[in-house]
Amino acid sequence: MNKIFLTLLAGLSLMLGSCYQLQMQRQARTSNVVVLDIGHYYHPERGGQGARTPDTRYGHIEETDFWYRYAIYVKQEIEAAGYQCLICNRGGMPNNAKLAAAARRAGVHHVNSEVPTGVYRSKHHPEYMAVGMNSTNYALDQKPAAVVYLHHNSNSHNWLVCNKGAFYCNKRGVKLAGTMAKVMNTELVNHGLPNNDVPCGIVVRDDGRKGGGDWLNACNASYVPAVITEVAYLSNPEHAQFLSKHENAVKYAKTIGKGVVTYLRGR
Ligand SMILES: [Zn+2]
Repeated sequence: MNKIFLTLLAGLSLMLGSCYQLQMQRQARTSNVVVLDIGHYYHPERGGQGARTPDTRYGHIEETDFWYRYAIYVKQEIEAAGYQCLICNRGGMPNNAKLAAAARRAGVHHVNSEVPTGVYRSKHHPEYMAVGMNSTNYALDQKPAAVVYLHHNSNSHNWLVCNKGAFYCNKRGVKLAGTMAKVMNTELVNHGLPNNDVPCGIVVRDDGRKGGGDWLNACNASYVPAVITEVAYLSNPEHAQFLSKHENAVKYAKTIGKGVVTYLRGR
């Protein structure tokens, strides 16, 4: 009797589990919400805490600062196509007046992590933990179709031409990353943004904390395609020179948005 009851219970919980999974998959597939995460955070005294150009010779860019100013253009491109776009950041509102104004214009939601450099656990999938996980918690609360982590790369404290830019993605995000790379390569990489004729690629990342891997893993566990943009290298003088011109930075941000829209329309 007990055995039958236990078997029935196990069967029921398996069924409920797979129902829940199907529901999550459907949710990601039919959602019209895209969440953007501004990489890193703004420290009240030290400023943006992301990668930066080695010096000012070829322009002066810091990752966090850049995306506070330009995430709005990614958002505009996505919203012009009829989707909803939300922007978040792991820290608090910058105390720099210009960046705060840009954040308000873009409607940035600050998750106000108590320790922005601290390692936090995923609220939805507690087996995953990473610095900046609070942004992913916010993103997954929105039941999104896609999450895009806005970053730039850097591989050196000195100027060095590097052409290995890529969209890093989870398994669910291979198509999203592939579409974003295709649009980026058609419109900008080697067509304005010099890259020695090397196209930007895609890299599937499921290696845990390293490079935000667990943000991607947590999204993957919710069946949400997710991508970290690491196309431009701030230590590459050609990339820095290109992105330090306002109109080029706008075009770069819009091309990211266009890649997301092309993916969403092709789902
Ligand atoms: Zn970064």
